[in-house]
Amino acid sequence: MECKENHMNQQHDDTYWKEKLTPEQYKVLREKGTEAPFTGRYVHENTQGMYVCAACGNPLFRSDAKFDSLTGWPSFDQALPNAIETHPDTTLGMMRTEITCTRCGSHLGHVFDDGPTKTGKRYCINSVCLDLEHSTE
Ligand SMILES: [Zn+2]
Repeated sequence: MECKENHMNQQHDDTYWKEKLTPEQYKVLREKGTEAPFTGRYVHENTQGMYVCAACGNPLFRSDAKFDSLTGWPSFDQALPNAIETHPDTTLGMMRTEITCTRCGSHLGHVFDDGPTKTGKRYCINSVCLDLEHSTE
């Protein structure tokens, strides 16, 4: 096992991520970029399954939490327990809440309090940060 000082997290250095991720994924996940709206592969995805972190495989969202927010990014109304961490983000002159993967610390997107469902949350996630694992049932 590498990184023996990190008991909880799978933190890695930039060299590791540059080899593992595509340039687009690296830009979003590790440099907190944002993919262009309506370009992501999961914007209109309706297949049942589990959305996991594209960087480390950590399960993040169930497909039944996904809804069409019409924003051009995959959106969810709740995350799995302890799957994500939130951080205040005041870049671009806005007050937003950034979300990152609990396991590897990668940037995923932002969460907003204007969700249309009973949770009131809208997790706005970049498609490149996600991998959909189809359910086998
Ligand atoms: Zn992760």
